[in-house]
Amino acid sequence: MDKKGLTSKEAARRLKEHGPNELEEKKKENILLKFFSHFLDFLVLLLIAAAIVAFFLGEIVDAIMIGIIVLMQGVLGFVQEYRAEKAFDALRRMMSQKSRVLRDGHFIEVDTRELVPGDIVLLEAGDRVPADGVVVEEAVLSVDEAALSGESVPVHKHADGKGKMFMGTVVVSGKGKMLVESTGKNTKMGKISEIVQTVKKERTPLEVGMEKTGKQLGIGALTLCGIVFIAGLWQGFPPFEMFLTSVSLAVAAIPEGLAAVVVITLAVGVQRMSRKNAIVKKLKSVETLGCANVICTDKTGTLTKNEMSVRTVLLPGGEVEVSGSGYAPKGKFSSDGKEVAPGKERGLRMIMEAGVLCNGAYLRTDSKTGAWGVLGDPTEGSLVVLAAKAGIYKEEIEKKNPVVAEFPFDSTRKMMSVVRKSGGKKISYVKGAPEIVLSESTRILDGGKARKLTEAEKKRIEEQNNGLTSRGYRTLGIAYKEMGHGKINQKSAESGLVLLGIVGIMDSPREEVKNALALCREAGIRVIMITGDHPQTANAIAKELGIGNGKFLIGEELDKLDEEGLRKAVEEISVYARVSPEHKLRIVDALAGNGHVVAVTGDGVNDAPALKKADIGVAMGITGTEVAKESADIVLSDDNFATIVSAIEEGRGIYENIRKTLAFLISGNIAEVAIIFIAVVAGFPLPLVAIQILWINLVTDGLPAIALAMDPIDKGLMHRKPRAQGESVWKGMGLFLLEYPIIVTASCLGAFVYFVELGDLLLAQTMAFTMLMMFEKVEAFSCRSLERPVWRELLANKFLVGATLLTLILHFAILYIPFLAGLFYVKPLGLEHWAIILAASIACFAYMEIRKWMGMRKG
Ligand code: ATP
Repeated sequence: MDKKGLTSKEAARRLKEHGPNELEEKKKENILLKFFSHFLDFLVLLLIAAAIVAFFLGEIVDAIMIGIIVLMQGVLGFVQEYRAEKAFDALRRMMSQKSRVLRDGHFIEVDTRELVPGDIVLLEAGDRVPADGVVVEEAVLSVDEAALSGESVPVHKHADGKGKMFMGTVVVSGKGKMLVESTGKNTKMGKISEIVQTVKKERTPLEVGMEKTGKQLGIGALTLCGIVFIAGLWQGFPPFEMFLTSVSLAVAAIPEGLAAVVVITLAVGVQRMSRKNAIVKKLKSVETLGCANVICTDKTGTLTKNEMSVRTVLLPGGEVEVSGSGYAPKGKFSSDGKEVAPGKERGLRMIMEAGVLCNGAYLRTDSKTGAWGVLGDPTEGSLVVLAAKAGIYKEEIEKKNPVVAEFPFDSTRKMMSVVRKSGGKKISYVKGAPEIVLSESTRILDGGKARKLTEAEKKRIEEQNNGLTSRGYRTLGIAYKEMGHGKINQKSAESGLVLLGIVGIMDSPREEVKNALALCREAGIRVIMITGDHPQTANAIAKELGIGNGKFLIGEELDKLDEEGLRKAVEEISVYARVSPEHKLRIVDALAGNGHVVAVTGDGVNDAPALKKADIGVAMGITGTEVAKESADIVLSDDNFATIVSAIEEGRGIYENIRKTLAFLISGNIAEVAIIFIAVVAGFPLPLVAIQILWINLVTDGLPAIALAMDPIDKGLMHRKPRAQGESVWKGMGLFLLEYPIIVTASCLGAFVYFVELGDLLLAQTMAFTMLMMFEKVEAFSCRSLERPVWRELLANKFLVGATLLTLILHFAILYIPFLAGLFYVKPLGLEHWAIILAASIACFAYMEIRKWMGMRKG
């Protein structure tokens, strides 16, 4: 195998030659076709038909106006869809898979689409194989090829030239390196399937629901419009005017845009979430987020910083303290306050050497900042740093002790081993959870010699280990074994060990987690910690953060509980330690069985079932495996618990914004239909003409509705309990859907009839039109919160303020520019008219806010 891999220059050349490593992208839809698709809607076609009829009847002005409005509506719809698409595209790019590849002598991370034939790629459990190739190095590398062959039993791949790897299959255990042979369309996957590399755009339950509701309301509105048409004819209105009015009313009243509101609000929302490090993969999870009432979280890296450093080493001869912080290899060793020379202590030296020889991490400095960092697992990194503090350098001793066999870490076994050739002997170096290493140890290295380890001594060491863990240390047992001539396998390499000692590693909680947990408590969300770590370590961190009540359950106890017992236990216990991914799945199952809406975090390949099972699967973006990310609904690009909480907050906010927009749109529609319906049935002239109805629907309502969808998130949302799953989106909207339309209808009709009686129909219509417009303006502000008064943060939504000013200016233009006034059938209003309109709309706003305030005091 080429030790250096390809040069970046050669890789770039090959990328040009072979093309990117991706299956053919779906052809982009024609933009023009997309634009015109907005005019294919039944209602729009109806309007176009109406415009044509108007044209032939000689009503040229009406025909042109309708034409313009149809065009504007189409452009607005198109722009919105385009924005939503852009947001989704950006997300798709963010989710692109990465691969670790050898270039210019170093492993670096590149976008998987940049892989070329000839690249050497590093693979580990949980990775999706990124291209076709052949295994060149491996350690118990097994691959699940179900994606290609349908066969789900993992296949062991050997580095004998026959171990072929195929794009799309999954590494389920072990690790290895592969030489890429073919990429993109030339892979087996590329040849046999037409699968396109896009995220499926599935429809969310709310979107589907809204489509259904939209249809039902539409049928109702259409019926009413039919009645208006017939009643109008009955009352003796000219048939064409009635036709145009009914069609416009139908267009205005039929809430065809409800599903679009959902999609656009979600798109805006997920874009906002991605800026806060939560990348949404499945849109429907945004809706579910608002209902989440339990979060099951990992500990290491999520609640804690995952910046590990070894602080203490337990040896048979006593405890050695290590100073220094972070990953910088500087620090002193001391025992009982006296400095120790680490190189001279055989036991100390051995445990440090074993720690780095059974280890996949490397110490690196950042080429720009010079800061020390770890490439690989931070727990392992801490051991490399520890050794470097004593002048033992991993790269150097690795060269002297070449690998014979390797049995990588997995979180079910909780240990790992590497067998190396060492001065003519084969030695297995082992590390893992102390109780497991201890149970496999028969001897202990004491004073430079291996001697028998008695049961009593094991007990004592276990107690010492407990002492460390209860102080919050993460501990690892380290051991070795001289291999005989027998077969080398996992069992022989990891049993009959000589214990070297135990290291205590410090990892502190993330600072922001405390606030996030406090927010969870207020928001009625329970937090459960599920960790593979030692119960005492878990408990120490849980206590520091205030999770749970001091009670915990360990994996072994969990095994003894049946489903019923576990369901009871999960209601009470919030800390689970020494658990495996299978336990995690059972806990999630039990919680779901109790009716909770559960968000669960995961990173390993074995976490996939729990991530899929949970209502919201959350994968770690940094430490997570490809498989975990694929199974998740949301990926955290910073691995941080606090990000989950802010995603829940966003989820609640997005849902609420959808509700606000729906309340605003539907209440306006109800009012419009009611005004015209009552007027026509009661035998009055038409209060609003066709153009006015269309204008209100498109501009006066349309722009603020878009602004409401982008409303800043209401801080109060996290002071409430989560919404129940399945709760109707219309819940608690009586004020908007009933009382508001009644006020608007009564006021507009009242003013209209008053001025009709005075004999000025044009003024009466202008009053009804302007009043309705003003009511809608104030309602848009009131809609910013459906439950709480908004007067304090009235102007917080800049878009809404802008949309309001713009629509007001347009309305003034219509009223006071004679040419436009002619087109819209209005006349200029005087101050006295404005006084009436302002008084009515302000009174309506005050009514809405006071009603909300009273409702809050009651609730
Ligand atoms: P969580 O993210 O759930 O908190 P964890 O890191 O605590 O996970 P695991 O990764 O399953 O849980 O680790 C379980 C135990 O295995 C640890 O307490 C530690 O003793 C041991 N362990 C962890 N990483 C390694 C490793 N790289 N090599 C050997 N042992 C390890």
